[in-house]
Amino acid sequence: MMKTSHPKTEQTLVIIKPDGIQRTLVGEIIGRYERLGLKLVGLKMLLPSAVQIEEHYLLDPNWKRLVGEKAIESYLKKGEKPPSADPIVVGGQVIMRLKKYFTSGPVVASVWQGAHAVEIVRKITGGTEPRSSDVGTIRGDFVLDSYSMADTDDRAIRNLIHASGSVAEAEAEIKHWFSKDELVKYRLVQEQILYDVNLDGLLE
Ligand code: ADP
Ligand code: MG
Repeated sequence: MMKTSHPKTEQTLVIIKPDGIQRTLVGEIIGRYERLGLKLVGLKMLLPSAVQIEEHYLLDPNWKRLVGEKAIESYLKKGEKPPSADPIVVGGQVIMRLKKYFTSGPVVASVWQGAHAVEIVRKITGGTEPRSSDVGTIRGDFVLDSYSMADTDDRAIRNLIHASGSVAEAEAEIKHWFSKDELVKYRLVQEQILYDVNLDGLLE
């Protein structure tokens, strides 16, 4: 039988973007991932370079097109005209804006581990556009930006957080931002109640 790794070993990358630091939401954001039961295995503050940002987003060769398609779809859904009908053109604009955004101030990069870490972090982070992201998500609760406002002002959408979009993306992104020795392997006591098959040893 092929040995597959347990779901509790899944990891994801979260970067609190410069607006998250400026809004003094670092504690709030980290607290939201902590209270889910995820384990923090890496954490650092840094000033990213434009090259680091460009490389980060282009780890996925389809990202430029996908980000463009997502923006165009959001305009069409509202019955509005997108700034360009070509997703690659829109995607190219977004990468320029992201380089400016991410280099405007410090960010906090972190790695979180736990069952379905990638999917669950995305769920509670909320959709890309805060205007339409769900109530109760971090982006939905703490920020009000939109595609149209970002386009009008020729800047990136300020949505506080980057979170990996898939397990493959997470693996590549964690390698991009963290060296192996910056990730800590340790046991979190609460993992027993989250994952252990038998809850023995609780009763005295
Ligand atoms: P997510 O961060 O939700 O995974 P994407 O990977 O599609 O979103 O885009 C990366 C980031 O680029 C977004 O979080 C947002 O800050 C910014 N962004 C995306 N699309 C646009 C756009 N059309 N205009 C301005 N900024 C954008
Ligand atoms: Mg993304």
